[in-house]
Amino acid sequence: MNLSMNKVPIQMLESPLLKTTSGYIDGNWCAADSARTMPVVNPATGETIAVVPVMGRAEATRAIDAAARTLAIPASIEQRRDWLSRLADLVTENREELGRIITHEHGKPWKEAQGEAEYAASFFRFYADSVDHLQPKQLADRPRNHSWTVYYRPAGVAALITPWNFPLAMLAKKFSAALAADCCCVIKPSSKTPLSMVALFSLMEQLELPVGKANLILGPAGEISDVLCEHPAVRVISFTGSTPVGKKLMAATAPHLKRLSLELGGNAPFIVFDDADLDRAVDQLMANKFRGAGQTCVCANRLYVQHGVADAFAEKLAQRANALKVGNGMEDGVEMGPLIDRNAFDKVRRHVDDAVAHGAQRVAGTEPVEPQPKGGCFFPPTVLRGVTHEMLCVNDETFGPLAPIIEFQEEAEVIEAANNTEYGLAAYVFTTSDERAERVIARLNFGHVGHNTGSGPTAEAPFGGMKHSGFGREGGLEGLHDFIETQTVPRP
Ligand code: NAP
Repeated sequence: MNLSMNKVPIQMLESPLLKTTSGYIDGNWCAADSARTMPVVNPATGETIAVVPVMGRAEATRAIDAAARTLAIPASIEQRRDWLSRLADLVTENREELGRIITHEHGKPWKEAQGEAEYAASFFRFYADSVDHLQPKQLADRPRNHSWTVYYRPAGVAALITPWNFPLAMLAKKFSAALAADCCCVIKPSSKTPLSMVALFSLMEQLELPVGKANLILGPAGEISDVLCEHPAVRVISFTGSTPVGKKLMAATAPHLKRLSLELGGNAPFIVFDDADLDRAVDQLMANKFRGAGQTCVCANRLYVQHGVADAFAEKLAQRANALKVGNGMEDGVEMGPLIDRNAFDKVRRHVDDAVAHGAQRVAGTEPVEPQPKGGCFFPPTVLRGVTHEMLCVNDETFGPLAPIIEFQEEAEVIEAANNTEYGLAAYVFTTSDERAERVIARLNFGHVGHNTGSGPTAEAPFGGMKHSGFGREGGLEGLHDFIETQTVPRP
């Protein structure tokens, strides 16, 4: 259906998983009480691909009340395992269509988006296989001459707030652990990318979850966030997004003593020592840096390259970056899509312009085309050399396809520089010396440190930040901790 009108191009996205684009509260698909809607825009074309409700206080309250009611009906471990494993199957079976929806609302290449769907499924699978860890535990001894049982109860209604950069996977990480813990959930996706969530809820209808177990609230945070922070039934807020919003949530929930899990921003250093396997380092950087057009929390934001290999590394990287095919993620062969919107585009441009104005040299990439073809937000993969610590791109998360190279001489110098940030999410170290790697990794204040790999997280291992990158862990058995209350019962 092409409804192109006067100014705003419209190309509605049709999908068997998007028969509706509503929210989902208390077992029903629903519009906003106010009947207000907002467009969802394809960042590759500038076209409106759907309209979704703008919900607020009333809908958020209804969703929380429904979740609180359902919390009173516990689900057995077996039941939860069954839901999680069927959901893993459903997401895997529908990865192509889920990927197509992700590509339309986010812009990443279709193949990469299917990879996101598989990644999301891996969390449902992992927690299906791990839910037995939440069986009650009986202490082997009888301290105080009592038998002691430890129960893992659901922490309560969990509010799950997610960003746009992995519209499906960021929610899957939280929801899989919350469902394993038997929490009831109110889910608020980014208003930029709500369709992947609508599609997931449409698949979840096949699970026949109890009414109120999972609710979907659509719209900008505003009033919704106020209700989630204030409502007494919400006991956990699990948030992935920017550090400034994480801080606001911490302040807003402090009077209510809610449990927070905060997966916040990063400023990842990617350190390449003289003895590194350079081809491997470049390969890994390409996958790490340009995935999602550089809009991932774990992607390298600062490349520290030791002086002896800086020329060779920069040359190899520039060649690879210049060869990347940029375009609409639905087109064959496209390796990098657009940025999410004009604000994101302007931020990358500001970082590049600032660095160049202060003496950095562009060794890959060109000035972005203006005006953008078809209203998209494409930024050329860019590599800069001669970058220094005063430049914006070193101190702020660029969240775009910019790879700034900073040369260093000594190990101690690079450790200090890498840690010189308020963030502590991901870091990468490339060296063929295991001894050096152990030494450096132990001193890096980052929750995730790749050694000779640019790999991000996996469902089986805990992942999370230090310092202003937040707290709490997702993945691994540790990922369950945010959603359980531990109850201890002594019996004579
Ligand atoms: P964001 O602006 O902080 O938004 C994230 C979510 O929070 C969205 O759903 C947003 O809703 C909502 N939100 C906005 N203001 C809020 C408020 N005052 N109270 C409650 N919720 C609020 O972040 P983003 O731009 O979507 O995502 C990019 C950021 O996420 C980057 O900093 C990135 O590093 C970080 N990130 C971190 C991880 C990790 O694992 N640590 C993973 C992915 C991304 P609306 O926008 O609809 O209003």
